[in-house]
Amino acid sequence: MHRFFVPPEQINLSSPWVSGQEARHLTKVMRMKTGDRVILFDNTNREYAARISDIIGDKVYFTIEDQKTMVRESNLRISLGLPLIRHQPFEWILQKGTELGVAAFHPFYSGRSRRDFGKMEAAGKRARWERIIIEAAKQCERNVLPELNEPIPFDQLIAQDLGELKIIPYEQEASRTLAELEWTGSLQNPVCAMVGPEGGFRKEEIEQAREKGFITVSLGPRILRSETATLALVCLLQYRWGDMGQRR
Ligand code: SAH
Repeated sequence: MHRFFVPPEQINLSSPWVSGQEARHLTKVMRMKTGDRVILFDNTNREYAARISDIIGDKVYFTIEDQKTMVRESNLRISLGLPLIRHQPFEWILQKGTELGVAAFHPFYSGRSRRDFGKMEAAGKRARWERIIIEAAKQCERNVLPELNEPIPFDQLIAQDLGELKIIPYEQEASRTLAELEWTGSLQNPVCAMVGPEGGFRKEEIEQAREKGFITVSLGPRILRSETATLALVCLLQYRWGDMGQRR
């Protein structure tokens, strides 16, 4: 069944509706008609069985027939610091990270990342990146969208208290892997992870992060691209402390 995202403030109306890209997708791409059944989600752990009740102009209206709680969020809250790298791999991380259950994306720029482009909105990035996240959430049946935060400099990001466990994969770290960390994750104890850009972190950035309590870990003997390292790391975190290594 096709899924559509309805902003939370619109789901409680007597006739919930969508417009814009989500409506165009429904009418033009899926060619859906009045009476067709859909599933709606609204960025909470609920999903709604609904029918299209009307299509007027660029608005599609629904009638909700049933709703249920459906939690597909990980018990492990992962805040992911991702460097501003080339567009394609950056957007790939947003898509795959959403599928793998990242709770919050924190784009950053550092010594060897892309230059600061200012605010996401002004640079035309916010709408595009949110779209990627919504599409990925629809595809993987995730009802809660990961947060997308404004890009900030790396030193500001590591100064925020985003996790009890703070991890930085570092290719020059030979002596510590994730498997060796003694930490028991829980909802109250989120994890924060930062992966470096294509050119890696500078030594002084690693030192700064260590001062803020970050632990450097190895992801094995091969040098991985930023996007590969990011996804490998998220998988390992979900496997070890999250919802990939345990039965539901
Ligand atoms: N500085 C490197 C490449 C950086 S790879 C160079 O050009 O030689 C990009 C990022 O992926 C790194 O900053 C690191 O966070 C992560 N990474 C890649 N391979 C890794 C490994 N084997 N162990 C730990 N982290 C790794």
